[in-house]
Amino acid sequence: KTVTMDEVIGLCRRRGFVFQSSEIYGGINGFFDYGPLGVELRKNIKDAWWQDMVHRRDDVVGVDCSIIMHPKVWQASGHVDGFSDPMVDCKESKMRYRADQLFFAPVIVEGETIGYVSVMEDASMEDEANKKAAEMKRKLGKQGELSPVELKSYDEADPSEYELIPSPATGKPGSLTPPRDFNLMFETNVGAIRNESSVAYLRPETAQGIFAEFRNVVDTGRVKVPFGIAQVGRAFRNEITPRNFIFRSREFEQMELEYFISPDEEEWKTVHREWINWCKEWLQSIGLRPELIGEDVHPEDKLAHYSRACTDLTFRYPFGVQELWGIAARGNFDLTQHQEHSGKSMEYFDEARKEKYIPHVIEPSVGVDRIFLAVLCSAYEIDEIGGDKRTVLKFHPRMAPVKAAILPLVKNKPELVERARGLYEKLQRRFPVFYDASGAIGRRYRRQDEIGTPFCLTVDFDTLEKDNLVTIRDRDTCEQERVTEEEAIARITAAVYG
Ligand code: ATP
Repeated sequence: KTVTMDEVIGLCRRRGFVFQSSEIYGGINGFFDYGPLGVELRKNIKDAWWQDMVHRRDDVVGVDCSIIMHPKVWQASGHVDGFSDPMVDCKESKMRYRADQLFFAPVIVEGETIGYVSVMEDASMEDEANKKAAEMKRKLGKQGELSPVELKSYDEADPSEYELIPSPATGKPGSLTPPRDFNLMFETNVGAIRNESSVAYLRPETAQGIFAEFRNVVDTGRVKVPFGIAQVGRAFRNEITPRNFIFRSREFEQMELEYFISPDEEEWKTVHREWINWCKEWLQSIGLRPELIGEDVHPEDKLAHYSRACTDLTFRYPFGVQELWGIAARGNFDLTQHQEHSGKSMEYFDEARKEKYIPHVIEPSVGVDRIFLAVLCSAYEIDEIGGDKRTVLKFHPRMAPVKAAILPLVKNKPELVERARGLYEKLQRRFPVFYDASGAIGRRYRRQDEIGTPFCLTVDFDTLEKDNLVTIRDRDTCEQERVTEEEAIARITAAVYG
């Protein structure tokens, strides 16, 4: 059985992973706050990515650029003119939809079209549309066989159909407008004067900061093509319909890499494939279940004009298979644009090839929040321990917000508490750990299972009086073993750091 969104959201709320932003004021749509456990999981994702992407590779360096940049950056990149989604308005309810997420189908009974149904994109949208179609047939009193719906996005509708497609909000045909472009960049003003020339944008991606700093990194960084520049940071998009919890929000965090290569006609294909494999293996290494990861190759005729290829790594979320990580071969479009708009050369002299060129680029781009949700969905399980149901997050130890819990068997025996506190303080210097002295030991284990703590260490009477050993309990097998403190620390360290 796979986890449902209600279960994930419920656990996130209950245990302090994620909250709706500004909840005390009724919330603000598309924004989220990460609580005490969420902030640790997020940090673990970012640290693991940075460690594996930057520290453990000889050919990648990092940058951290400002969120607001010169507005010309976004003119050069094409975002001012083209970073938009097709938007549809419902004239009656004032609801807005992304045309490519709004699906519709004619309802056909015995070859005759009796009306149209519409649904929002979702894993179960086909079922929902078929139900609506059956309902329509019943209401209109039609006899005969109903054809299964064939859904198409509103974006692909023929204009002659606009009048016939019902709004999901009102159910009434003819209340939707044709799609029009809506730019997703958040605008602000810089400086004391608010006019056209003070307009600036919150970055909708971190990638352009990397391109804008390309020259400086080459001039100061002793890097040689092929090499990459990595960045982790916030990005902002005024999404028309933020939805699916933290999957699509208006403020999120990206981890992006621009990997610069020569213009060789064959090289990019190999490097593109290498990065797809690297990203896939990395996702598995942090605990994503391989059977939930897929690849979606963008068809050539759907690519942007400058793009040579794009493959998404997808994840099977409870609401459907969706893009997690986009890996694009972008030619040298971005650097060429910045060279044209800034008048500064973006050329690189390749000593080995004895030639000057504007490097081409492979771009793996992923959202921290989308990985966060995938890590949670992969880890969530309900199993049975000795006849009792328990909810457990089977996080990879590297991802777990708390690496170990230290539990004194009882809290009213000072020597025992002192010993447990001592062990706790020793561990605190190495990892995030948790001290919990209250409640029955079984309940304390359950609390840790539910937040995915891989190990529990219990200090009991035998520790003090007999063997000087502690009990280490494994979250997944629930097996317990008595070991020395040093052995316990060594096991946790090995599990977390490999
Ligand atoms: P979509 O088609 O889903 O809107 P996109 O193709 O526009 O996404 P990119 O521009 O390729 O997305 O962004 C790179 C990565 O940033 C995505 O793979 C995703 O992980 C993340 N991302 C993009 N938009 C959002 C968002 N609104 N909320 C959370 N993460 C996002």
